Amino acid sequence: MLLCCPACKSRDIFPVAGGYMGQVYLCKSCRYRGSFVLEIDDPESAGTAEERESQENQVRN
Ligand SMILES: [Zn+2]
Repeated sequence: MLLCCPACKSRDIFPVAGGYMGQVYLCKSCRYRGSFVLEIDDPESAGTAEERESQENQVRN
């Protein structure tokens, strides 16, 4: 699973030592800092591959 910056969508974000807020993440690209980050399981398959496959399965007459 990858972490993604909610502000600039950069993957250059990493967890830092959380204080009273709990886990905090810091983005190197835009200096975003917060407990909320985007989590991506597999960015390579985030496209429309599945949608295309379903369309190809339809037989044209
Ligand atoms: Zn960022």
